[in-house]
Amino acid sequence: MTRRLSLFGATGSVGQSTLDLVRRDGEGWQIAVLTAHSDVAELARLAREFRPDIAVIADEAHHAALREALAGTGIEAAAGADALVEAAERPTDLVMAAIVGTAGLAPTMAALAAGHDVALANKESLVSAGALMTAAARASGSTILPVDSEHNAIFQCLAGGKIDQVRRIILTASGGPFRTMSAADMARVTPAQAVAHPNWSMGAKISVDSATMMNKGLELIEAHHLFPVGLDRIEILVHPQSVIHSLVEYIDCSTLAQLGSPDMRIPIASALAWPERMATPCAPLDLPTIARLDFEAPDETRFPATALCRAAIAEGGARPAQLNAANEVAVAAFLAGRISFPAIVDTVSRVIDGYAPAVPTSLHDIFSVDVASRAAAQHFVDQFEHV
Ligand code: NAD
Ligand code: MG
Repeated sequence: MTRRLSLFGATGSVGQSTLDLVRRDGEGWQIAVLTAHSDVAELARLAREFRPDIAVIADEAHHAALREALAGTGIEAAAGADALVEAAERPTDLVMAAIVGTAGLAPTMAALAAGHDVALANKESLVSAGALMTAAARASGSTILPVDSEHNAIFQCLAGGKIDQVRRIILTASGGPFRTMSAADMARVTPAQAVAHPNWSMGAKISVDSATMMNKGLELIEAHHLFPVGLDRIEILVHPQSVIHSLVEYIDCSTLAQLGSPDMRIPIASALAWPERMATPCAPLDLPTIARLDFEAPDETRFPATALCRAAIAEGGARPAQLNAANEVAVAAFLAGRISFPAIVDTVSRVIDGYAPAVPTSLHDIFSVDVASRAAAQHFVDQFEHV
């Protein structure tokens, strides 16, 4: 049976992997919406191939170019933040939220409020507004299907028991490209080194987050919202091979794990097909070749980001939104060559120490905290840049 899919962030790493699966499973999907930030040529190319009802370019400066590129196709061309929200509300069977950063929050919230099931890759939206998002899903009856490989793994392992019988969730982490590097050497790493992840091929922002371990901290917050077992029951375990994507331990000491090749098309396919399964072209696990799986405790001295995230979600309120916004600014500054690698987490930590935002009760409150935290982070970035 054909299902409708609305894809937000079509030109990104997760977006491309999603379309790769759709392309191979051509009969199964009708694309309703495709969106991108500013790459009109690529969005138009994808729109011509997948024939959505509407293509949305987030950056309004490109509206005319998109209209021109889609002239004569019958595909609607829209632009801007409001158009993204409007597109998210349109009838569909599944929304894939694969925009990076807080930019994905408004459309994802709109999709949940409209009652659509959401395959969620955009972890930053859940970090910033987890309570509001899960409440919106509950109110409308929509399901959030985690795409992040660890959360997809946990989601699958939770099918083997009841959430109130979980003793521990173990969130695995590769440790990133600098897992064994000294703090002194990390002070000199370049953006190119930071985005070269040993196991996964991903967008630039999440690759830097993996290198700082901020990604695992954001994922801890994400897990806390998706699987409310209590923060002290979610642990982080470094597992350099990225074969076990996470584990769930039950009260009887049975531990279930989900394993697979480090290929995002596997968790994406799981979310797309849920509660069924779909075939993928991914490499099956070759355990004799992998031969061994290693585990180690995280080193929160060299990688303080996970502890920052745990403290932020323990405090709750707008702390995670503040942390996330500061991190987005700091990562962009690092990628632009403006600040050093250790200055990323330093910036986040200073923004958190700088002020305590009021507890948010609306999306508007979250956006206010987001704006203020970005400004504060920018201030520290400017200072770091000049030392
Ligand atoms: P990416 O940078 O490759 O792609 C991001 C997408 O978002 C692009 O389509 C881009 O056009 C769009 N976008 C960027 N800024 C935007 C803006 N301001 N407004 C509207 N659209 C905008 O990122 P990615 O690696 O595909 O990651 C997407 C999300 O999925 C992130 O939240 C990331 O943490 C999460 N995720 C990614 C992976 C992975 O393997 N890449 C794994 C787990 C989770
Ligand atoms: Mg992940």
